[in-house]
Amino acid sequence: MPFDLAARLAERHAAHLFRQRPLLDSPQVPLVQVDGRQLLAFCSNDYLGLANHPEVIRALQQGADKWGVGGGASHLVIGHSAPHHELEEALAAFTGRPRALLFSTGYMANLAAVTALVGQGDTVLEDRLNHASLLDAGLLSGARFSRYLHNDAVSLSNRLRKATGNTLVVTDGVFSMDGDLADLPNLCAEAKASNAWVMVDDAHGFGPLGASGGGIVEHFGLGLDDVQVLVGTLGKGFGTAGAFVAGSEELIETLIQFARPYIYTTSQPPAVACATLKSLELLRTEGWRREHLNKLVARFRQGAAEIGLSLMDSPTPIQPILIGDSERALKLSALLKERGLLVGAIRPPTVPVGSARLRVTLSAAHSEAQLEQLLAALAECWPQVRDDA
Ligand SMILES: *Cc1c(COP(=O)(O)O)cnc(C)c1O
Repeated sequence: MPFDLAARLAERHAAHLFRQRPLLDSPQVPLVQVDGRQLLAFCSNDYLGLANHPEVIRALQQGADKWGVGGGASHLVIGHSAPHHELEEALAAFTGRPRALLFSTGYMANLAAVTALVGQGDTVLEDRLNHASLLDAGLLSGARFSRYLHNDAVSLSNRLRKATGNTLVVTDGVFSMDGDLADLPNLCAEAKASNAWVMVDDAHGFGPLGASGGGIVEHFGLGLDDVQVLVGTLGKGFGTAGAFVAGSEELIETLIQFARPYIYTTSQPPAVACATLKSLELLRTEGWRREHLNKLVARFRQGAAEIGLSLMDSPTPIQPILIGDSERALKLSALLKERGLLVGAIRPPTVPVGSARLRVTLSAAHSEAQLEQLLAALAECWPQVRDDA
């Protein structure tokens, strides 16, 4: 039977891989209203608590008053407004790079950068655990595509030796489902030795990492010579929406000229750029958000270890609890929900088979008391799942 969708859906159910969308009836805050209930959430990527910040909201409102709602057209036609341009200049200054280019989503920024830089006859090398948008971009590019072992400079080096044409090494900065950092000093050194370029997607590093929130490149003190293509997304630590690529004058001009996901799409609403200008200012200057977040991360890791939970090698607000089996991950998530806590179970194909997990994320908007509530609930629920195996 063609298009037997019912069978596909039933199969997904049976494998405990069916996904459901919690219906949110409140802003992104720790205490959310979901499916008619109030829950304490530990699964948002709003790491700094800026998504519902009054000053960011006011900047959006004032932006809408001045610039209206829609972007109106693509950047190349008549959709490139003054707030977009001002934000690009601010992001270039923030990242210490000659130029930055604004996109409507991180998914599109990744498709754009990879496909504009490599094609047939070239090579793209990616970490096995890269975000889906980077993997899709590599496949779409038509370049020879190969995945190296997670964060393994030796495995990368073996592949670099066989690479042909322009070679682009692509990695998450902070791995989105594990929370660990890319080993950029070593990966970049390997790439440099082979005349390859490095592209880093630091969707989860901007905001939480670096002295001024500049992400993994600020954390490691790397420049344009090490990371030629730097991607950030604005829907996570920045609390707004969109993404950017930062790099050399030539890189950005190449994207404007050749990147189809940049050219053939409407610009984001200019008021969103106004909001991001405000959130960028808060992200840079209010270091207390990072300090509080780091305190929460340390306390969570200590508390979770005492309970006997299996954590990953993560210094970031992404603190997954490794479970393994999808059904047990769902069960732990359900038990927490009964106690008023919302933590999503992440299952294959988002993560490798056998590595289902609860992806706990912390935010500067969480209080210490709220974190203690999570730890107490985990101490209660974990034994019921642990002994299930
Ligand atoms: C979320 C995410 C993206 C996609 O960004 P959007 O702006 O949400 O489309 C890209 N890369 C990584 C690593 C991400 O976590």
